[in-house]
Amino acid sequence: MSLGHGRPYLAIPGPSVMPDRVLNAMHRAAPNIYEGGLIDMVDTLYPDLRTVAQTSGNVAIYIGNGHAAWEAALVNVFSRGDKALALATGRFGHGWSEAAQGLGIKVELLDFGRQKGVDANRLEAALRADRQHEIKAVLSTQTDTASSIRTDIAELRRVLDACGHPALLMVDCIASLGCDRFEMDHWGVDVMIAASQKGLMTPPGLSFVWFNERAMEHHESAGLVTPYWNWKPRVSGESFYQKFDGTAPTHHLFGLREALNMLVHEEGIKAAWARHAALARAVWVAVECWGQGGPVYLNIADPGLRSHAVTSIGLGSPDAARLRRWLEETAGVTLGIGLGMETEADPKSQNWLRIAHMGHVNAHMVLGLLGAIEAAMQALSIPHGQGAISAAARIIAKASQEP
Ligand SMILES: *Cc1c(COP(=O)(O)O)cnc(C)c1O
Repeated sequence: MSLGHGRPYLAIPGPSVMPDRVLNAMHRAAPNIYEGGLIDMVDTLYPDLRTVAQTSGNVAIYIGNGHAAWEAALVNVFSRGDKALALATGRFGHGWSEAAQGLGIKVELLDFGRQKGVDANRLEAALRADRQHEIKAVLSTQTDTASSIRTDIAELRRVLDACGHPALLMVDCIASLGCDRFEMDHWGVDVMIAASQKGLMTPPGLSFVWFNERAMEHHESAGLVTPYWNWKPRVSGESFYQKFDGTAPTHHLFGLREALNMLVHEEGIKAAWARHAALARAVWVAVECWGQGGPVYLNIADPGLRSHAVTSIGLGSPDAARLRRWLEETAGVTLGIGLGMETEADPKSQNWLRIAHMGHVNAHMVLGLLGAIEAAMQALSIPHGQGAISAAARIIAKASQEP
């Protein structure tokens, strides 16, 4: 029989769980786009978006998904034929690099594989080899959503500075913003991108580019910039119309307003980082317990390299796909598919799954999800070690006693 009837839970790394409050804020008649409440409300979004990114810099809002933000960030900085140094720690690092190549940017790619994280020595060697300072920017993800590797962004800045290299530091925080600690100004990040549908708890359709004055200087000579993607009128245009280069995404903006109320004004961004860290630790400890008696394992061995928003898990067999199917059909919870983990033996990453613990997610959801996974492993006779759920509960109990 199915036990899936009830509230479904989409635990994939974007779109993430959308709070009812966000959906309700969107459920309204079309607002006037020329004057009045909408225009005043949109002005209030910018300071909160700065808080989320911990920056006093600029933020441009686009109607688009994460791929749109990839291009928006690139075209405002680069000219055709310019050089970028891209760091890949999984599928999404490659994706941004391919977007750059598609725009006619010359990309030097440092591929660190899918388990290890950025090797600062290789980065340093690549920067030092660039004596003419042709590399205009270093591109990195904070969290690569496929491998669930988290990159130490402050370290990238230290390496750039140690080499005396003037390249901009551009970071894709699409999977991590609002989940993992991120301090744009303090860490010396020049350009950062995110999208609405992950840690920001708003339906897919909005994306964001934050940038500082150094990036703005590059913008002045960026040959790739086109009128629609130009970030300048979006941050300093005279009229409301210029902020979106056309009709504003009205309902998404109301949804975002409510999401930022929850994230910035009620919980607080630092508390949200701490919540994500605790929930992530609960997931990790459960997987480690299962792994004591079965083929289940975390993709990333070093906890310091693990995302707090998503966890990539291997089963070494297509049991991962069976498990996901069972969970969706029988328990009402949908896990993420494996992505970018292809090998010859597993050309479609069928041996992998991902658990998202990003955004509007709390202790009872994560404990419920882990309990459902354990039930799935029992039902499907997938061998696994004991004690996972109590271990996860201990993490949650301990975290609750922290200030
Ligand atoms: C989700 C994601 C993207 C792509 O976003 P889309 O909205 O699907 O275009 C890019 N980078 C990272 C790190 C992501 O997690």
